[in-house]
Amino acid sequence: MRSFTLIQEGLQTGLDFLYSGQCHACGEAVMGQGGLCGACYAQLHLLRGARCGLCAQPMAGLSPDGQIISCDDCLHAPPPWDRGFAACQYRGTARSLILALKHADRTDLAHPLGMMMARALGDVPQGAVIAPVPLHWMRALSRRYNQAGLLADVIAAQTGLPVMHTLLRRLRCTRMMEHFSRAQRIAAQQGSIQCTRLAPKHVIVVDDVMTTGATCTAATTALRMMGAQDVTILTLARVAKPL
Ligand SMILES: [Zn+2]
Ligand SMILES: [Zn+2]
Repeated sequence: MRSFTLIQEGLQTGLDFLYSGQCHACGEAVMGQGGLCGACYAQLHLLRGARCGLCAQPMAGLSPDGQIISCDDCLHAPPPWDRGFAACQYRGTARSLILALKHADRTDLAHPLGMMMARALGDVPQGAVIAPVPLHWMRALSRRYNQAGLLADVIAAQTGLPVMHTLLRRLRCTRMMEHFSRAQRIAAQQGSIQCTRLAPKHVIVVDDVMTTGATCTAATTALRMMGAQDVTILTLARVAKPL
């Protein structure tokens, strides 16, 4: 048994050596089967401390009794979903990786990033179905893949939950909304996503970035209209306000 383990370890070391690769973010050589170099990992800004249980905004302090805490924005205008998770903040390394996944054909990044999302989800809700936020067909035509769909496949493989790629559909190709306020974004996105069939009871909506939550609001509203009772939002990164 021991010798088997030694052989296994030897093989593993050999494999590690063979596959030692480059940092996903900067291309620097790293040991092991790829990953991030120390400098890029330090700029990853994982969301680990206290955060809003609805929109994942980092918060100061801790929940007094382990209940879901809400940030001021969610207290004043609660989003329509039940809980929300994000793996990291949308800055530094995560921002570069997401831009590469979206605009530079780095579809290989979907695996490590999807694994981070599966970890951020924590306990896997029984009976839930994963639904990626869709691209409008015009955008899908030029990009050739939906980054949220790629991430959803990795999360599905990791959690054992099914994924429904066509549950949600984009009806409009919304403009870039970088300078829009939260209210303007929600108004612009209203009715832009349709649920194409009777929704499962519990849906996990997967997207790459949450900024104001306008896209997730449109997706959740569409799902609720078609019967979803429980909606979880899982994004890779959250555009967070400074604490
Ligand atoms: Zn690096
Ligand atoms: Zn919040």
